[in-house]
Amino acid sequence: MTERRVRVRFAPSPTGALHIGGVRTALYNYLFARQHGGDLIFRIEDTDSNRFVPGAEEYILESFKWLGIPFDEGVSFGGNYGPYRQSERRDIYKKYVGILLERGKAYIAFDTPAELEAKRAEIPNFQYDASTRMQMRNSLTLSKEEVDTLLAEGKQYVVRFKVEPNEDVRVNDLIRGEVVINSSILDDKVLYKSADELPTYHLANIVDDHLMEVSHVIRGEEWLPSAPLHVLLYRAFGWEETMPAFAHLPLLLKPEGNGKLSKRDGDRLGFPVFPLEWHDPKTGEVSSGYREAGYLPEAVINFLALLGWNPGNDQELLSMDDLIRLFDLNHCSKSGAKFDYKKGIWFNHEYILKKSDAEVAELFKPVLREHGIDPAQYTDEYLTRVVGMVKGRVNFVKELWGQAAFFFVAPASYAEKDVRKRWSADTPRIMGELQEVLRGIADFSSKPSEDIVIGWITEKGYHMGNVMNAFRLAVVGECKGPHMFDITELLGKEETLKRIRRAVDALA
Ligand code: GLU
Repeated sequence: MTERRVRVRFAPSPTGALHIGGVRTALYNYLFARQHGGDLIFRIEDTDSNRFVPGAEEYILESFKWLGIPFDEGVSFGGNYGPYRQSERRDIYKKYVGILLERGKAYIAFDTPAELEAKRAEIPNFQYDASTRMQMRNSLTLSKEEVDTLLAEGKQYVVRFKVEPNEDVRVNDLIRGEVVINSSILDDKVLYKSADELPTYHLANIVDDHLMEVSHVIRGEEWLPSAPLHVLLYRAFGWEETMPAFAHLPLLLKPEGNGKLSKRDGDRLGFPVFPLEWHDPKTGEVSSGYREAGYLPEAVINFLALLGWNPGNDQELLSMDDLIRLFDLNHCSKSGAKFDYKKGIWFNHEYILKKSDAEVAELFKPVLREHGIDPAQYTDEYLTRVVGMVKGRVNFVKELWGQAAFFFVAPASYAEKDVRKRWSADTPRIMGELQEVLRGIADFSSKPSEDIVIGWITEKGYHMGNVMNAFRLAVVGECKGPHMFDITELLGKEETLKRIRRAVDALA
């Protein structure tokens, strides 16, 4: 048999913001597709009209754009297997429901909600299946005439899958190995509802995976319980030969490791569980997103890639190209992955370091604007050098302001604790001398200025720490920051002298 072309899909239901676990699922599909030179499809599973949320589809698309995960075909991307939005495929599903009915693999059921409720009250743990279906109102218990009459009268019905009992259903999962489930525990799932003339998730999902020639279904563990039913559906259609391979990814767990990660964990511990900020159109609630929280998309990708998979060694910093090369479903774990959001922060720090100073300077510009500074007043070189001096100290680009504000505005106040410790009665006089020394320096760049100033302090026998810290206090506003003479080089002689004068006036 010739190797099948790799075709995978990410198939979200537009029911709200995309959860970070869904992002990881899409990422793994993307890595797998790229690695095999295959196709990644974006399909919208919107057959449950009750759960449809306006804006969700656009939100999902924008998320992947930001993250740098392009799709090869699907909703908004085009392709030869469309339409890719399930609500636009009604006729296709109708046809396939008809095939199952014709083959006796499915049946029509007329039970009303009230009748089903009554049965549930009568039979403990009621399940619509081989043991109960013959007590219900369906095309297996009613005569052909009765069924036709009910249909002609326009009575609402559903189509149910007829699951044969007592059969071991085997699902071969690339991550979990063989999973065996006895068909008796499955119920006769609803495949189609006349009320909205739409199939349910199960039917639409199988029909589409078949028609779109999907080769591998890589999805979250929460879909594993559906897999036996899906295997039976492939069989009922006679599609076993081209049934996709399954891989069910491990759950994302709470940071503490007990139970599934939820939005509440994010609220409780202060980290986003969505890629982008989400404004819930129904409740008006706003949920934070990785983008708005200041994460770099590369960092989010790297962080997520390692939640449930590892390259087989302890390498952690992996670019998208590395991931495409190294990704391997066989190295995905079966057990859940703790959502160590602090690790996400660490990745962000690492990716800020990895980026060139010039790139980070570009990202810093909007932050400057937020603080009332027009970045256009500075050369790119100035901004780049500022960034180079402080980026090692931050986890987020927006934190650069806290480290570098003094490069843009002279201190308006001076850290009290430092003043107490470093500014004595003698200091104004020494600062006066320092101004003279600085004024006399011809080459104000870091090293030459340092040599001269240190030489002067030594010659005078002044206390090195006290003088240098008072100098720093005057220029920076507190006793911390990058190398003092790197700062003064960038600020220039005039500004440096001005700041010392101001401090002497203010602290006199
Ligand atoms: N529509 C399902 C979801 O929202 C897709 C599950 C699958 O990949 O089969 O995740």
